[in-house]
Amino acid sequence: METPPAIVWFRNDLRISDNPALRAASALGQPIVPVYILDEHAPGTWAAGGAARWWLHHSLAALKSSFAKSGLDLLLLRGPAALVLPRLVRETGARAVFWNRLYEPWAVQRDRQIKSALRAEGVKVASFNASLLFEPTSIRTRNGEAFRVFTPFWRACLAAPEPSEPEGAPDLSFLRGFKLPAGERLEDWRLLPTAPNWAGGLQAAWQPGEAGARARLDAFLAKALDHYESERDRPDHAGTSRLSPHLHWGEISPRQVWHAAKTHPNAKAFLRQLGWREFSYHLLFAFPSLPEEPLDARFQAFPWAEDAKALASWQRGRTGYPIVDAGMRELWQTGWMHNRARMVCASFLVKHLLLPWQYGERWFWDTLVDADLANNAAGWQWVAGCGADAAPYFRIFNPVLQGEKFDPNGDYVRKFVPELARLPARFIHRPWEAPPAVLDAAGVKLGTTYPAPIVDHRAARERALASFVGERRVGIGRMRSAVVRG
Ligand SMILES: Cc1cc2nc3c(=O)[nH]c(=O)nc-3n(C[C@H](O)[C@H](O)[C@H](O)COP(=O)(O)OP(=O)(O)OC[C@H]3O[C@@H](n4cnc5c(N)ncnc54)[C@H](O)[C@@H]3O)c2cc1C
Repeated sequence: METPPAIVWFRNDLRISDNPALRAASALGQPIVPVYILDEHAPGTWAAGGAARWWLHHSLAALKSSFAKSGLDLLLLRGPAALVLPRLVRETGARAVFWNRLYEPWAVQRDRQIKSALRAEGVKVASFNASLLFEPTSIRTRNGEAFRVFTPFWRACLAAPEPSEPEGAPDLSFLRGFKLPAGERLEDWRLLPTAPNWAGGLQAAWQPGEAGARARLDAFLAKALDHYESERDRPDHAGTSRLSPHLHWGEISPRQVWHAAKTHPNAKAFLRQLGWREFSYHLLFAFPSLPEEPLDARFQAFPWAEDAKALASWQRGRTGYPIVDAGMRELWQTGWMHNRARMVCASFLVKHLLLPWQYGERWFWDTLVDADLANNAAGWQWVAGCGADAAPYFRIFNPVLQGEKFDPNGDYVRKFVPELARLPARFIHRPWEAPPAVLDAAGVKLGTTYPAPIVDHRAARERALASFVGERRVGIGRMRSAVVRG
């Protein structure tokens, strides 16, 4: 009789090194069955968007070929994990199942049920933390509650035991030998776009998979980290790590990033950004409605507008504000957007257009390769001013000044809004102020080759503040006096 195998259920941990579930399974010395289950049936799931599906396809292909090097295969199955996993246990006779934890509310619930069902059948089940530096429940206020403010949260993290050293890849070669049941073909999952293929820009920008993640980290450590603190806000420069999709999909662990970066003289500012990621997960775990509802309940009744035309202009990068349009087009073309541009674009949707932050959150979810329930929801709530430790609602970014400050030569705009490329830097963030001769010389016809602003900044700002202050259930006295002072 064949030795029963151990199953390793892969989810957002698409790597072989520093993978505690894989390591624990391999330590048993039994054959292993690595499996990925495409579960699009979980209740309340935010089904992966188009850009995420593209990434998943390539990341799974990369993981499959890594396993192939050890003579193993990654089994691909599809369906509700609560049915598919127990069926696989029965088919293979496995007596042990290992996975790394997820923190999305629906996944937490589903995994708990699967764990108790398998245990009831006498199967050993163990789960691990592979995607966070600190487990959400391990960092608590003095009263034992979740933090709502970042700085004390991060202070508490830094005072906690340091995240353990990452572990290398286990030797898998002696674990082969188990005949896998029939699985599905990755190509049949149709994760890639069919005609039209909009993924050319994604393909050019990214190398999904563990090797791509490592290369991205090494390149960042070799160069950009030196100037991270001064450059991280510049969308026109490659000043940040661009590790977010790799971290989201678990192609690299935050422990690996932490330990590789921590001795660098400029590590502090960078590690703090990893801290924001931790904070988002901390919030999502404590407040499972974070993706749908404002944490600050006073915003439940905020008088949002409905304007499908304005939403479409924002989505397509045709608002007439060059920095906003550059950000939205970077997102569409590459599946990623610089953090400063995310803040400016998000602020524009929520404050200039007065559209609900959830609309923007949904669009980002569909178009980002790093779409992440915790980070996306926390980012949107922060910008909208309704989240934990949020930017106050009355702080309204001026898109012209933001552009001039963070893209001073207009190179970011030139790259993603080519119809403005020939405008001089002086007018590139305010083309409507350029004299006709300058527009002519640059080949720009406002309203024809490039849109005129869809809202006037000053009027939009007034409207946002009036909605905020005027909404009695929202605009409370403390905030109102801050507006007056501001
Ligand atoms: C409206 C909005 C939506 C966002 N949606 C997402 C999302 O869906 N997925 C996502 O990963 N990030 C999101 N962010 C956070 C941030 O913009 C990205 O993580 C960052 O731009 C990724 O670039 P990087 O890897 O070069 O970051 P670096 O500056 O190199 O930072 C290193 C890592 O720290 C984490 N990080 C950095 N900034 C933040 C932050 N503000 N919040 C949480 N984690 C952070 C990321 O994992 C990042 O890879 C959002 C921010 C905003 C304002």
